[in-house]
Amino acid sequence: MSDLNLDDPYTVPTKHWHALDDGRVQCDVCPRNCRLREGQRGLCFVRGRTADQIVLASYGRSSGFCVDPIEKKPLNHFLPGSSVLSFGTAGCNLACRFCQNWDISKSREIDTLSADASPEALAAEAGRLGCRSVAFTYNDPVIFMEYAMDVADACRERGIRAVAVSAGYMNAAPREEFYRHIDAANIDLKAFSDTFYEKVTFAKLPLVLETLEYLKTTDVWFEVTTLLIPGLNDSDAELAAECAWFAEHLGPDVPLHFSAFHPDFKMRDIPRTPPQTLARARRIALEQGLKYVYVGNVHDVDGQTTTCAGCGDPVVKRDWYVIKEYGLTDTGACKRCGTTVPGRFDGPVGTWGARRLPVRIPPVPAR
Ligand code: SF4
Repeated sequence: MSDLNLDDPYTVPTKHWHALDDGRVQCDVCPRNCRLREGQRGLCFVRGRTADQIVLASYGRSSGFCVDPIEKKPLNHFLPGSSVLSFGTAGCNLACRFCQNWDISKSREIDTLSADASPEALAAEAGRLGCRSVAFTYNDPVIFMEYAMDVADACRERGIRAVAVSAGYMNAAPREEFYRHIDAANIDLKAFSDTFYEKVTFAKLPLVLETLEYLKTTDVWFEVTTLLIPGLNDSDAELAAECAWFAEHLGPDVPLHFSAFHPDFKMRDIPRTPPQTLARARRIALEQGLKYVYVGNVHDVDGQTTTCAGCGDPVVKRDWYVIKEYGLTDTGACKRCGTTVPGRFDGPVGTWGARRLPVRIPPVPAR
């Protein structure tokens, strides 16, 4: 018997689905297009069919909350130095063999969703903690979009922004609806090969590229991350192809992050990414004309520093998540030559540093 039930306070109706002639109901949120019989859950686990409709069964529940530096998302051009209240739920619509958050994203245990938080409680807590934004991260907000959008709206009412960390695997109509509520995003571009996407993530590359091109047409500030996995997505040819596409379709001002892999989940036999690989990827991207290319998950001040495109001066020096020197005005212009760095800058640089602060939000009914 199914455990899905609209009487459950954490289960809500959704709207991106349609009935099929064969009696199944199709969820239209992501390109998985799960076709479900009564009582079945989709691949993401948190959406499923009950009462002849697709429901979200994790509204108002989270796997936990933590205050992080915004640079950890990673976003280097969005309210630098500020703190962000991060949270995720359970499940995921991808199935990456290298997942670095697999305990959450692959969870089939509702126990993972141990923390309750209504959108209003979450926004209030973010305000109380002095966070300038809230981030949907750890797992992909695509699958809990109804909850994420309500949290984003509650945050916006308090002047707090909303950040999505996503693999960008989403269908067009829900994507447009979702990103109307979002201020900034970091999208994982997991590789630049169809084979990698199909074999390692069980998804399709062109549909992710479509999301990146879509974001370029919106006001959402976005940055892109590629996790480099030794021997799988780090060849010169693949990196050159990715960066050439990036320059042509997204332009040189969108920041690109190359981050280091560590062995995890079903890929424990592959070694950690050497720093030389990150440096090589960064060099290839700079040669393709990209202006803001960063390396992550390592100490590398040069590879984490923002350089002014006008005068060539280092304007934001970072070491991992810590800002060491800051040479921008409150609106993001170089103090030396006045050239504006693309991004969202609004006031003085934050001072959160590298701290990670786990948070408990007082339990209240979700609705
Ligand atoms: S969001 Fe979940 S249920 Fe919907 S199509 Fe994607 S994986 Fe399937």
